[in-house]
Amino acid sequence: MEERKTDVLVIATHPDDGELCCGGTIAKLTGEGRSVVVADCTRGELGSRGTVETRRQEADRASAVLNLSERVNLGMPDGNIKVDEDNVRKIIKTIRMFKPTLLLLPGPSDRHTDHEDVHSLVRKAVFQSGLPKIVTEENGSRQEPFRPQRLLCYMQTYEFPVDFYVNITDEFPRKLEAIRAYSTQFHVENHEQATEAYETFISRPEFLDFIEARARYFGAKIGVRYAEAFASVEPLGLKSLSVLLEI
Ligand SMILES: [Zn+2]
Repeated sequence: MEERKTDVLVIATHPDDGELCCGGTIAKLTGEGRSVVVADCTRGELGSRGTVETRRQEADRASAVLNLSERVNLGMPDGNIKVDEDNVRKIIKTIRMFKPTLLLLPGPSDRHTDHEDVHSLVRKAVFQSGLPKIVTEENGSRQEPFRPQRLLCYMQTYEFPVDFYVNITDEFPRKLEAIRAYSTQFHVENHEQATEAYETFISRPEFLDFIEARARYFGAKIGVRYAEAFASVEPLGLKSLSVLLEI
């Protein structure tokens, strides 16, 4: 993997987390000509529905819908993500390779503990990624130390105090299309999996209702139809109040 500078890196625990939590924001960024890379930590092999291969194909389809520059998989074991040196290094190598200005990560507390572990992993990795004495190599050459400018948490099942919302009204249909690319995971009308497979928290039709209801609710808070919510790890500063005149 050679160096591939990107505007935004989204670190997702499982393939589909990025689409569910910030798919509209990603679609908006790529529509504005920004480069977005998604790094999935696991292949989702513990998922009750679908296989590693079907989930890989689904992730490819979702990447095309969102117009991602690239998608990589870090190959951590699903359901058992250790906050250890090995995994921290995998994230450091990814950060140093893509040199993102913004890094999006899961929030600190969630229903699925893998999500919490990835939050901790990314926090550690971002700090260490800026230290020259932490040496990593890619294809035999030493990577430069690098830290993203901002760490922004996207919201999964549990809520956290929100710092800002992104208006995704125009992008909401594309977010849904990207989610539906994961046809083994979610309720897709008339799809064979809809009747045959084991029903999970996210495969029930109500789950997509929840995704829509939350986006509507967040949208209502800022006077638009649909929105996604974020919290910044560091305090956010504005260059000037003029920035708010453009919203
Ligand atoms: Zn997940």
